[in-house]
Amino acid sequence: MEVEQVKEKGKKLFTLQQFNERAIEIFNLSHDKPLSKNGIECPICNNELLDSNFGYELNAGLMTKKVLCDNYNCGYEGFRFLLN
Ligand SMILES: [Zn+2]
Repeated sequence: MEVEQVKEKGKKLFTLQQFNERAIEIFNLSHDKPLSKNGIECPICNNELLDSNFGYELNAGLMTKKVLCDNYNCGYEGFRFLLN
């Protein structure tokens, strides 16, 4: 029996995107802490940006953190690289 070569018929697979989105969702739920200011100026309204509580993501092999502007009229969202 070539067990390794047999694929289960009709098995529902996640796409990589679906899997990662779910993993991020679970991660976020376990990291529900207050947002903190990060000393970075919003590129749109010059308000001080906040670090999100969405954990960390890899972007081109570098760790990044999502940043948000809490100015209601702005709503900028972006990423910053982590230095450490
Ligand atoms: Zn802003």
